[in-house]
Amino acid sequence: MSRPTPHPSPVSRPFWDACARHELVLQRCAACSAAVFYPRPGCPACGSTRLEWEPASGSGTLYSYTVARRATHRKLADRVPYVIAIVELDEGPRLTSTVVGTDVDALTIGARLQVDFEDDETVSFPVFRVVAP
Ligand SMILES: [Zn+2]
Repeated sequence: MSRPTPHPSPVSRPFWDACARHELVLQRCAACSAAVFYPRPGCPACGSTRLEWEPASGSGTLYSYTVARRATHRKLADRVPYVIAIVELDEGPRLTSTVVGTDVDALTIGARLQVDFEDDETVSFPVFRVVAP
């Protein structure tokens, strides 16, 4: 299955390396304890650059979503209809991803989700599955 491929930066590479191991990780600020996502060099809460990677639970809630019935990228054409989801992780940060393995018309805001991973040729992508509607 082909799809647009991320280009990890030095800052985001630990995230993608963890995805390759099928682990979801977040940054945690050593100064103020804020959980941080997306990957970045400084804490958005306090400005500290003391950010450390830690495992995330992989659990979250469907915060918002839309269903793409036309592909938003040519490499996604074979996936329509698909969900573009904002998942609020239990640790707090929100992650843009997708929800797979479910009837897209049966999704509900607030559904409980668990991370899973889909492997492409070179990258493992975090996706989410519904565990409780
Ligand atoms: Zn901080």
